[in-house]
Amino acid sequence: MKTKSYWKRDRGAADPFGLPKRIATGLESSMKRSSEEAPADSPVRYIWIYVTEEGLQRGRRPSDADDFLDLDGWLNVIDEAGSLGAEWMVIHVGSSLSPVPYIWRLCDWAQSVHGLRVGLHVSNTCLSEDDLENLGRLEADKTYLLADKEDIDSLRFLEASGVHVCEANVRADERAKYCTKPGTITCVGPDGQLFSCGLVMGDDQYLLGDSQGRRLCDVMSDDSLPHLVPNTNAFPQNGCDACPPLVAERALEREV
Ligand code: SF4
Repeated sequence: MKTKSYWKRDRGAADPFGLPKRIATGLESSMKRSSEEAPADSPVRYIWIYVTEEGLQRGRRPSDADDFLDLDGWLNVIDEAGSLGAEWMVIHVGSSLSPVPYIWRLCDWAQSVHGLRVGLHVSNTCLSEDDLENLGRLEADKTYLLADKEDIDSLRFLEASGVHVCEANVRADERAKYCTKPGTITCVGPDGQLFSCGLVMGDDQYLLGDSQGRRLCDVMSDDSLPHLVPNTNAFPQNGCDACPPLVAERALEREV
């Protein structure tokens, strides 16, 4: 498993201080965003992560379990993006929430340590009892379930518990042909590779590097990398679904 794990690098498997160290790292990252250590001009506002094999397949990369980011690797991504000023995180889950064992820990970490609003982008409305229980443990006012327009009505019951239910589909008039929004997004595939945004996930022309091999602040401020998509029309319209800045705009409009 490749990772620049704070945990594993420092402690070995049996370190009893692993969890406190992890929490300290998260809190340190959280504090950086409001301190002078955080880059004042950091453009990062959104984290967009693809945590399941579906995301890997979308990237047309070889599927090898050892290539998947582990929990600690994902927490590193959230901590780094959080320290750069991220305000939202969208997790592309795919067909089911249940097979992703640590997804709830990522959501909880993002909300409780970094104060992020969290969107779960699902392509199936079948939520298990466990899913509902775990959803209920999150901060409802910072939790958004993102789904296709046709599935929204079957998820409305969640609104009774305070969870926001939002349409994930991006309309043609919302998507710019020349899109500069990737400059505000840290987008990571299941193998830890960074891409400009979800629309171009898996396209090597838009590969920004390895999230576990280079600091996010260096990647996001590296002007030699493609932090925009010059012709979105060359890609499928639904590839923009659940794009974090568009989701955020839509969700906040509904809340005012
Ligand atoms: S997903 Fe679409 S709208 Fe979002 S940043 Fe990429 S190109 Fe722009």
